[in-house]
Amino acid sequence: MDGLTFTCPVCGVDVPRRAKSCPHCGACEKSGWSQDRHFDGLNLPDTDFNYGEFTRREFGSGPKKSKMQWFWLVVTILVILALGWMTLRGMG
Ligand SMILES: [Zn+2]
Repeated sequence: MDGLTFTCPVCGVDVPRRAKSCPHCGACEKSGWSQDRHFDGLNLPDTDFNYGEFTRREFGSGPKKSKMQWFWLVVTILVILALGWMTLRGMG
């Protein structure tokens, strides 16, 4: 009895161990048992996909936008430096 059947993780009925799919709910090794489904839904591919999209968005949207970002970064740094320099001058 032990080795001949196991409990279907989907619907809970006893399924013959040699059966390829559950006769009750139709779950099978490839598309059915919940453990296998967990393995199918790995977190890694998801993270990979998100990272790829992020990279594409940040660096792949064209040199124009990237140039603008650099321009504003330089402008911001120059303004901060000028303000800091003027503040130091005023204090000193
Ligand atoms: Zn079942």
